[in-house]
Amino acid sequence: MLCPHKCVLADGNTGRCLVRKNVDGVLMNLQYGYLSAKHIDPVEKKPLYHFYPGSKVLSVGGYGCNMKCTFCQNHHISQYTPHWETLKYVSPESLVSEAMLLPRNIGLAFTYNEPTVNFEYIMHTATLAKQASLKNLLITNGYIQKQPLLDLLQVVDAFNVDLKGFTQKFYKEFTHSSLVHVLHTIETLVHNNKHVEISWLLIPHANDNEREFINALKMLSTLKTNSLVLHISAYHPAYHMSEPATNAVQLLRFYELAKQYLKHVYVGNMHVGFGDNTYCSHCGTIIISRNSYTVDIKNVKNKKCTSCEAPIDDIIF
Ligand code: SF4
Ligand SMILES: [Zn+2]
Repeated sequence: MLCPHKCVLADGNTGRCLVRKNVDGVLMNLQYGYLSAKHIDPVEKKPLYHFYPGSKVLSVGGYGCNMKCTFCQNHHISQYTPHWETLKYVSPESLVSEAMLLPRNIGLAFTYNEPTVNFEYIMHTATLAKQASLKNLLITNGYIQKQPLLDLLQVVDAFNVDLKGFTQKFYKEFTHSSLVHVLHTIETLVHNNKHVEISWLLIPHANDNEREFINALKMLSTLKTNSLVLHISAYHPAYHMSEPATNAVQLLRFYELAKQYLKHVYVGNMHVGFGDNTYCSHCGTIIISRNSYTVDIKNVKNKKCTSCEAPIDDIIF
């Protein structure tokens, strides 16, 4: 079973994710190789701020998702099957060849829709990419069973995992999935020393209960890693959710709360004048300044802070 929904599919039926179908008794991945999007993006756009900052990554997505988030910002590809003529078949070999030829490109990012439902394509493509010394990035909701997750760990170098809320009630009501499996994914990634950044989309009147957010921060702060990064992103009305967008005052409040528990907290989806830059976690000297996707690495030499000489071991350069 790929994901915790454990769909039981009669012949001809398709799973909740829209992409896995019982065809004459064989479970097929309908979107294998069929991409809805392919772009060369700054790695910061994933968002990953501590993984080869300033580099580019060839980013691809298909369609479908195993969550049903009422606020999905990419619902046009995650919650519907696109017209097949809008999808383009790209074999694993072609995608890796393209990635190898791009300047300043570190590898492949599987993103846009939920990539894990396209498990077989990722395994094949990421294995080839790894053999070619490229990096593999996965931007995921973390809703996956243990064994396929362990398989992905063999080929994926960095993960951004959405933590969409911190109660089972929220996950059930707003995403039609469950929190416990997502937490298990985050813990497994950390336990296996993978680079992990977490995204929290801050939605007014949905997951903006401060007590619940603090509970999430406490959990994240207990994870045994020195490189955990939290991105708090501003929500904008999308799909079935019409609450007004997150405002800067609320974003600042949650940013300051998070800074009490975690060393590296950033804000996204809104230019607010805070939560962009990275500071040395020993002396506080700025080491990466960011302006939108313009990245300036400064005060770093030989992976050490030039002010305090401490090794910078929570960023992969
Ligand atoms: S991956 Fe798709 S078909 Fe498989 S259990 Fe999850 S939702 Fe169902
Ligand atoms: Zn320093």
